[in-house]
Amino acid sequence: MTRLTILEYPDPRLRTRAVPVAAVDAPLRDLIDDMLETMYAANGIGLAATQVDVHQRLLVADVSEGRNQPRVFINPEILSKDGSTTSQEGCLSVPGYYDDVPRAQRVRVRALGRDGKVFEEDLEGLLAICVQHEIDHLDGRLFVDYLSEMKRQRVRKKIEKDKRLRAEGREAAPARAPVI
Ligand code: ZN
Repeated sequence: MTRLTILEYPDPRLRTRAVPVAAVDAPLRDLIDDMLETMYAANGIGLAATQVDVHQRLLVADVSEGRNQPRVFINPEILSKDGSTTSQEGCLSVPGYYDDVPRAQRVRVRALGRDGKVFEEDLEGLLAICVQHEIDHLDGRLFVDYLSEMKRQRVRKKIEKDKRLRAEGREAAPARAPVI
């Protein structure tokens, strides 16, 4: 397995709209394994293919405490949404920044699994938020798009500053909320 490079905001490649996966085959399953390894190594709870510069509709997630329940959603579609909730989100592509984002509380999703078979599932809680966040990535959207322009400017400045700190060998602030 290979650890992949995660694109960081404001990289324009994060704005690409992903195309449907054509076939669930061995190369795709290798990509899924690499994405899971990359997500776990970065302490994220979700990762969309867009974030590793692969523009196909695929996302992985694991919201379990033990970090041992990987989930795979290929060509995910939200069939229905219900309720609303706002929670602090972070993103592996927007390191070190967290803010409140409004989402649906529950979603019904249809996708293909790792075995290529279609399934439908009702999601709630953190997994529902995570899947909405990742499907946004597949559509070229980031959680900072829900914030004001003033806040987005602050995010860009903070990311530049953190890059400078890392270049000087200093650590940026640790994660304070789920990083999706
Ligand atoms: Zn993200």
